[in-house]
Amino acid sequence: MRLPQKLIAFFRTPDLTTQGARDLFRLLTWENLSQVRLLTWISVLIMVALAAAGCFVVFVLGFGQGKDLTLETLPMRFLWLAGALVFLWLVKGPTSPRDVRSFHNQACLAIACMAQIMGAVQAGFSFESGPGLSVYVMIVMVVAAFLKVKFPLSLALYLPGCLTLFMIVRLKDYTGVHIQADLINAFITTLLAVLLSQIIYTRKVREYLDMGMIQEQREKFRRLSFIDPLTGIPNRRFLDQALSDEWRRATRNRGQLSAIMVDVDHFKIYNDTYGHLEGDQCLIRVARALEECLTRTGDTLARYGGEEFAALLPQTPASGAGKVAEKMRQAVEKLGIENKDSPQGRLTISLGVTCQTPQKQKDPAMLIESADQALYKAKQNGRNRLFLVD
Ligand code: GH3
Ligand code: MG
Ligand code: MG
Repeated sequence: MRLPQKLIAFFRTPDLTTQGARDLFRLLTWENLSQVRLLTWISVLIMVALAAAGCFVVFVLGFGQGKDLTLETLPMRFLWLAGALVFLWLVKGPTSPRDVRSFHNQACLAIACMAQIMGAVQAGFSFESGPGLSVYVMIVMVVAAFLKVKFPLSLALYLPGCLTLFMIVRLKDYTGVHIQADLINAFITTLLAVLLSQIIYTRKVREYLDMGMIQEQREKFRRLSFIDPLTGIPNRRFLDQALSDEWRRATRNRGQLSAIMVDVDHFKIYNDTYGHLEGDQCLIRVARALEECLTRTGDTLARYGGEEFAALLPQTPASGAGKVAEKMRQAVEKLGIENKDSPQGRLTISLGVTCQTPQKQKDPAMLIESADQALYKAKQNGRNRLFLVD
């Protein structure tokens, strides 16, 4: 990349989706608000101290070198105090990024703009005696470092202060080289503030996008941790979660919850005969066949472990669950997978079916345990069959 392109890339704000833009706006407004609130409180304390000192000089001592200047600046200090307190009162509401609205952003911009205009007035009137430009420069730089705003808004934020300064200089008919130099300095300060503001804002947007990407990846990993890598269907962890959710739901609705436990018959023999890799392929086919037997959206099929699968059927009576189990048995039989060294000569499954009406005081794991016992009975009764307990 050539230098101009590099510069453009450096300053350009990355694109945000509408939702992302809204979230970022909330986040930035919240940050702006928290920081401007704190700065305003600090300024209030400083102003109270300065105003008290000013009052002491004018009204108690009644004389002093700074008397004229103090008289000029005293009303401004009170004006600032009033403005700051009104601001603090107006924005006292939000306690988290969720509560902020565009009004809060506007209030922050307004008070920051007002601080700069006051700084400009102070600077303008004290060009010939007093702190001059330094107060104005300090305020502009503090605002630029703390307030994160978009480019067009930053112009609206920094230009009024600078223009005020120029107007005062014209009104007061100042002449002299150092005044000209100060004006150039004020202008450069404003430009620097706009630039700094844009850099900080762009960095913030990038940071936010990176954060979003990390969260997306985390979510992806979370989803992956519920999937069995071999068959691509949910794993036991997912089933446990689904069981606990469905148990609670059925408790509320006083509905029935059925479970089917599936175990491939003589799978050890299959592995010994055709090898482990062939065994894996076989499990993938069985998983797909079982999956196709579940048609309702609430039904869940999971690989429970090894060559065992489990299905959870909410709102399903024992008779319905029995039908689904029989459909599963036939579906695997229909795959026509050979298991030549097994007693049946082909690949089959045994199934344990159970149905319960969940109750709050009972443990959901009982449902799986009951299906497992039924499965044991199906095996005992000769395999390639289902056993149902109510
Ligand atoms: P039964 O009819 O009594 O269920 O007999 P079985 O041989 O199926 O049962 P057993 O529990 O003795 O053996 C299960 C076998 O399943 C053991 C193991 O070789 C195989 N197995 C478990 N998980 C996997 C897997 O992920 N891939 C493959 N290829 N085989 C697996
Ligand atoms: Mg087994
Ligand atoms: Mg088995």
